[in-house]
Amino acid sequence: MTTLQPAPDRAPGSLELVRLFENTVELPSGPDELDSLEYARAWCAGHGLPPPLDEGHVELLRAFRETLRDLLFANNGEGDRHAAWEALAPFLSRARLALNVDPDRGLELQPVSHEAEGPIASLLAIVYESLLKGTWSRLRACRRQTCRFAYYDQTKNGSRAWCSMATCGNQAKAQRRRARERNLSS
Ligand SMILES: [Zn+2]
Repeated sequence: MTTLQPAPDRAPGSLELVRLFENTVELPSGPDELDSLEYARAWCAGHGLPPPLDEGHVELLRAFRETLRDLLFANNGEGDRHAAWEALAPFLSRARLALNVDPDRGLELQPVSHEAEGPIASLLAIVYESLLKGTWSRLRACRRQTCRFAYYDQTKNGSRAWCSMATCGNQAKAQRRRARERNLSS
């Protein structure tokens, strides 16, 4: 029996699905759970998302994942936030959303057609909801360029920069120290 303790990386509510989506690939070179149409369909089905219909759609889904990652990187104070939002614009044509009444929650943004719009629309609806709730800025990609693992910053002051201090945080510190030492000796 495992005790249900919230993992420190976990995002609240449906935003966790976006975090898991970002972590379907282990950067920098894989493995990638969205590697093929078969894999991508299985992953989406396993996470309550409408499956992609063809290879082209899977390619788009992977591109969408990395575009979103640039935004999570910007949430960590890295890269160009403006450019990252602009890069998201082309994906909106594949994501028609409409307001629906949910008697429990009130109004909810949902894909017009789950089949046609696929997983991107559902994920964008979650991003939009997260922006409204004010949780978006805490979904981050690790600051180490080669890692960029997605986590939700649960710290009080929102200051967490690394997926793990033990791995990426300490490596970055060691790199900075080496760079300083090089500068001193040159
Ligand atoms: Zn990391």
